[in-house]
Amino acid sequence: MADFDLIIIGGGPAGLTAGLYAARANMNAVLLEQKGLGGEILNTDLIEDWPGEESITGAALAEKMAAHAAKFGLRVEIKGVKQVWSNGDLKVVDMEDGTRHTAIAVIVAVGGEPTKLGVPGEQEYHGRGVSYCAVCDGAFFRNMDLAVVGGGDSAFQEGLFLTRFAKKLYVVHRREEFRAQAILQDRLLSMDKVQAVTPAVVKAIGGDADVKWIDVERNGKTERIDVEGVFIFIGFKPVGRYLFQKEHIEHDPNGYIVTDQYMRTNVPGVYAVGDTRAQLAKQITTAVGDATTAVLHAERYIEELKHRRLVAAG
Ligand code: NAP
Repeated sequence: MADFDLIIIGGGPAGLTAGLYAARANMNAVLLEQKGLGGEILNTDLIEDWPGEESITGAALAEKMAAHAAKFGLRVEIKGVKQVWSNGDLKVVDMEDGTRHTAIAVIVAVGGEPTKLGVPGEQEYHGRGVSYCAVCDGAFFRNMDLAVVGGGDSAFQEGLFLTRFAKKLYVVHRREEFRAQAILQDRLLSMDKVQAVTPAVVKAIGGDADVKWIDVERNGKTERIDVEGVFIFIGFKPVGRYLFQKEHIEHDPNGYIVTDQYMRTNVPGVYAVGDTRAQLAKQITTAVGDATTAVLHAERYIEELKHRRLVAAG
């Protein structure tokens, strides 16, 4: 007998949506999250592409999603998960505190983490001028010259937030063209205090006790830019791999879990959703869509398995 029908690992938008659907379907489900509920959106200032909300902070949306799932009775445990493995039809979830839950199906919604530049000074100055979260750290940099590194939506979205504090903001990107949405590019680059530095590759971050400069290579020459904060947004990498030391789950070459259109992995009863899954769009809207599909499929899978067991038991 499994402890639960369904275990959801991760409490970001994907996990909370899976939890909402599972709770509304009256499934015997639990959501396990190691930190606070909300996931990556807690590191986002404004969200403007969540239908129905023209503009909402990441923290407010996270709170709304968590409250919504809680209203329908979702059980949440704040616990780190160590690994997931199969014992026949049973899924076993080992927790970091040594406890264990079992379930018929598991939905993995653990998201990812920011990619690191990997240049000298980055690690040394992390927390002393190097940051991966404008919302968390931006206010410490009031009236200072800052740099954002990256050319995607995150760099531009978070760069816009940083303009509230920065005296000057450099947008340092390795190519001439940015990949961020045009509307974000227009908004940020049209501001007087914002200067694009392209095509420029960050080579080093340095200073004294705190960051004071970055060295960038542009047109074959190294240039020093004086800044007191460096906000790095050069992508995102999934973090789910550590969960599967005992079980082979198919990942793509970038470390994302491979699924079919029902969010099924190669292991029956294990689903992957949101930013940890191989898919094109890392969006809240696609994460919640993934989660909806996964729960609806998992429900069928769980019922079928229970029915088979009843038949086998005579
Ligand atoms: P991203 O779209 O993958 O962009 C990463 C940026 O960093 C690219 O411009 C890339 O340059 C650059 N880069 C990558 N590796 C680098 C390196 N080693 N050194 C220097 N630059 C490097 O990542 P993201 O902006 O974090 O966004 C991740 C996903 O979340 C995307 O799908 C994005 O659309 C989504 N997102 C959406 C919103 C929204 O408002 N809807 C907000 C945030 C994120 P190249 O362009 O040269 O490859």
